[in-house]
Amino acid sequence: MIIQDKEFGEVLVRKNPLSQGLRFSVSTSGRLQMSVPKYTSTFLAKRFLNQNRDRIRENLPVKDPSSQRARDAKKKLLAKKAKEYLPYRLEYYAKLYGYSYDKVRLSHAGTRWGSCSSSRTISLNIGLMQVPEILRDYVILHELAHLNHMDHSPEFWTEVGSHDPRYKEHRKKLKMFTPGV
Ligand SMILES: [Zn+2]
Repeated sequence: MIIQDKEFGEVLVRKNPLSQGLRFSVSTSGRLQMSVPKYTSTFLAKRFLNQNRDRIRENLPVKDPSSQRARDAKKKLLAKKAKEYLPYRLEYYAKLYGYSYDKVRLSHAGTRWGSCSSSRTISLNIGLMQVPEILRDYVILHELAHLNHMDHSPEFWTEVGSHDPRYKEHRKKLKMFTPGV
């Protein structure tokens, strides 16, 4: 359930069947999350929140409600841009170099730029829309090469290098960015 709080904005309340305790954390969007015992009512959850207000304020980097909303809007825009661009760019390179994949999926996890599964599904992070095109292309070529090599073996890197001769530099530069929105 979600509690609307004047100070913290939307607070996500998760009922944890295994825990008797109360736990507070912050999501990647800067929203406060509460984990409460299974049979906690909304009334009780609000009371827990009020009782812990000072502690949360001092210890957790909760973003104010307007920056939470700003981040949502930014993410939505990025997802839209990504949808209009990444699948086509992937298809372009796949055709150019003769790869065939099964599906493309757009992700927004905070840790990975892309992945390629054994079922030949390629995932690309919407955060790629925020990095220079040359680095974006490197990630696409990297994932396509995984269709032939599901590891980071020397053969894999040779294949990446055959499409992106400056891949080492691109790989290094990409580390200056993080995928999270
Ligand atoms: Zn890889």
